Amino acid sequence: QVKTAFFRHTLQIRKKHCNPMTMKVTYYKKPVFIHQGYMQWLWDVDGKRYLDLFAGVATVSVGHCHPKVTAAAVQQLKRLWHTTNIYVYPPLHEYCEKLASYFPDPLKVIYLTNSGSEANDLAMLMARLHTGNFDIITFRGSYHGGSPQTMGLTSNAAYKYPIANGLGCTNTMCPDVFRGPWGGSHCRDSPVQTIRECSCAQAGKKCHCMANEQYIGQLKETFATSVPSRIAAFFGEPIQGVGGAVQYPKNYLKEAYKLVREKGGVCIADEVQTGFGRTGSHFWGFQGHDVIPDMVTMAKGIGNGFPMGAVVTTPEIAASFAKGVHFNTFGGNPVACAVASSVLDTITEDNTQQISLDVGTYLMTELAKLREKYEIIGDVRGKGLQIGVEMVKDKASREPLSPEAMNEIFEDIKDMGVLIGKGGIYGQTFRIKPPMCISMEDADFFMAVFNKSIHNYMERR
Ligand code: PMP
Repeated sequence: QVKTAFFRHTLQIRKKHCNPMTMKVTYYKKPVFIHQGYMQWLWDVDGKRYLDLFAGVATVSVGHCHPKVTAAAVQQLKRLWHTTNIYVYPPLHEYCEKLASYFPDPLKVIYLTNSGSEANDLAMLMARLHTGNFDIITFRGSYHGGSPQTMGLTSNAAYKYPIANGLGCTNTMCPDVFRGPWGGSHCRDSPVQTIRECSCAQAGKKCHCMANEQYIGQLKETFATSVPSRIAAFFGEPIQGVGGAVQYPKNYLKEAYKLVREKGGVCIADEVQTGFGRTGSHFWGFQGHDVIPDMVTMAKGIGNGFPMGAVVTTPEIAASFAKGVHFNTFGGNPVACAVASSVLDTITEDNTQQISLDVGTYLMTELAKLREKYEIIGDVRGKGLQIGVEMVKDKASREPLSPEAMNEIFEDIKDMGVLIGKGGIYGQTFRIKPPMCISMEDADFFMAVFNKSIHNYMERR
């Protein structure tokens, strides 16, 4: 009884004093009251343990309260909480040098921010100042932020407000091979191969990688119809996150970057979800596309949950931006830098990129088996620990599974002790992006739970 009263009181506070939108999107009918976290685990106030496969939206990169990262934070908290970058202090410079070493030339100049939206806002500004152009193109279905400027980059009605937002932003067709108009699917011969590595086209088989020309054609049409002859930038995630782990056909980004540069624009990779080894095969998602962006934005995993973001760019773009003064009180905060520096070390020491590759590949292989078993699993895709499972009414129509049905399955999975996410413009895709410390045993546990939840749903139908 005491507990029920406590829950009710907490929910009342949330309704009354916390952003009420978060009330609406509280994922679960029966909310989870999280009390504590350790590595891939979360505990609620009753002591019930959950396997966290969503990681606060791909944010907890190396594990909740990772002892090493926590120790780095505590050590810095005892030494110096704050000063701004008008002064010289070691954690900022140590971190910038370390982070720069993860990038190929010429990506060597770093601006630290406090969130992904802020990083993307800054990248928009820099692109415009550098190119002297205004228009920016992004993919439909993308999420790049919720500030008035980045809302224009974001192309998902759920996150839009009826205000003048993101002037000069145009959304082009997302080369989504499952839901796009030209059909296709992820490679059936090898479900864990990502589209970029798939070689079906060369073997003369019908596969999604063959639709590239049509999607590039759409980008060309956007250039011809919706923007001036010169543009400022093109933003794209290496794998769409909120959009539901959407991957693009092989060579799409490579060709798109070429076209954008011909129009005078710079190419920006939003690595807020895909960076820091999450895709397994590479440290940065863009490396899997064989491109080098002019700017890379990041947040979330950079601080393992500590609020932080960054823009990495070239000395040339930085020089254009240096014509004015850019100041950010908290960007480069000493504690944030100490945490982020420890995150980079931990990724190496704990071998989390390899875990992403091994456990992610295993999960996708097992999920692909379930796709063959159940009519309502339409597509399994992703790379490393950035996985999407798109749910449909049936495989032939590919109509999205209803929100009610999604919620039923989702709630069941949570009740069995696993937290995952939802995404896609119709909320039709389950998203799996755990802390990168998960094990094969965790993957097996999730597979058993997922299988059971779909089985239960089919039985109830
Ligand atoms: N870019 C991407 C790809 C994201 O997923 C998000 C957050 N979901 C953002 C930018 C915005 O980050 P933040 O919430 O830290 O502002």
